[in-house]
Amino acid sequence: DALEFQLRNIANTDALTGVSNRLALDDYLMILSQHPQNLSRLCLMIVDIDNFKRVNDEYGHMVGDQVIKLVAEILKASVRNSDLIVRYGGDEFLLVLQGISETMFREKLKQIRTEIYNANVPTYSRLQLSASIGGVMSAGRTVEETVMEADKFMYLAKNRKNTVVTEKDFANEEGEDGTALEALKVKQQILIVDDSEMNREILTEMLQDDFRILEAENGEEALKMLKQY
Ligand code: GH3
Ligand code: MG
Repeated sequence: DALEFQLRNIANTDALTGVSNRLALDDYLMILSQHPQNLSRLCLMIVDIDNFKRVNDEYGHMVGDQVIKLVAEILKASVRNSDLIVRYGGDEFLLVLQGISETMFREKLKQIRTEIYNANVPTYSRLQLSASIGGVMSAGRTVEETVMEADKFMYLAKNRKNTVVTEKDFANEEGEDGTALEALKVKQQILIVDDSEMNREILTEMLQDDFRILEAENGEEALKMLKQY
């Protein structure tokens, strides 16, 4: 009845953001596992806010809460009403999108990363937000496996932050089956700051096999790049 429906709704909702909580996710997964035909077309992403602890430490818990809400609003506005958004951890969201093409899913991942990066926290306009995102298409695997994989990709994205990682990023290195994932890693990024071009070249030469290299020739440029990347 109506009361039970209301109570259930409250129990399934994250109080801070109004998106679903993990209880709702469990329900959703149970229903989904009873309809395995849906698994072939399931797109799943995990979005984790970068350096969120620093927001809390530098601006306080209230502003931290505001940031979590803002990110939730961006996510809500980016997907369909019928898609599932779960507050999965403190600063982490899990999204399940059904009936979306791979191309559209990729666009969506990029769009969400960009919108979080461009978001302005009211009255704290200097606060630069970003998120690391892992995205996976289920292709017939169980939801649990798909979540674990999205989580792995999100952690790989953390090496760089403000980044999306999907299985496509490994296509060249591991073939189609998506197995040897542990062996692969997104290269960490290094910023070399030196006013001598020759020194930068030497360091780049030494490090470029293991790292992605950024270069800056003075402090001002370095700060700009730190902010951007
Ligand atoms: P990373 O870039 O690697 O994700 O680092 P991070 O600082 O974002 O991640 P970490 O997991 O170290 O910190 C998450 C913090 O989120 C820790 C916790 O105190 C805070 N947090 C969790 N839930 C809430 C909440 O509801 N409100 C606020 N303000 N902070 C929260
Ligand atoms: Mg985080």
